[in-house]
Amino acid sequence: MAIERTLSIIKPDAVSRNLIGEIESRFEKAGLQIVAARMIHMTQEQAEGFYAEHRERSFFPDLVGFMTSGPVIVQVLEGENAIARNRELMGATNPKEAEAGTIRADYADSIDANAVHGSDSPESAEREIAYFFNDSEICPRTL
Ligand code: GDP
Ligand code: MG
Repeated sequence: MAIERTLSIIKPDAVSRNLIGEIESRFEKAGLQIVAARMIHMTQEQAEGFYAEHRERSFFPDLVGFMTSGPVIVQVLEGENAIARNRELMGATNPKEAEAGTIRADYADSIDANAVHGSDSPESAEREIAYFFNDSEICPRTL
């Protein structure tokens, strides 16, 4: 199995509800390592650029409005099959459809306020990691 990196975001709803620790704990217990992390409050321009693939969708203004409504944690998770593993831990986009025990099933309120983001492919992981982090900010384990 391949060691991969993926871009994870703890969204404003989860940060606001003091769920940062709970969510990070799930990643760590699943064997994913946090190799970069920062708290930011995204500007409209930053959120629009990050979600550029959804620019034509009807929910785009709501998505950008929500993602700029409060601080988020942007981070890089590393581990075996990190991209798919993170998506499994997150659960389906709509929390009502998310499998029991996933982050979105347990902590998310709605399809807008759905607690977490995770890259969906190696190509998007590469783009999304580079969107927020320089190589020098990524700190793989040495022990
Ligand atoms: P994700 O990869 O599971 O986060 O889902 P997508 O990449 O398809 O969409 C990005 C984000 O846009 C999702 O996490 C949702 O917060 C939001 N979103 C997606 N689809 C819808 C929708 O049909 N309606 C609304 N209101 N928001 C949506
Ligand atoms: Mg997506």
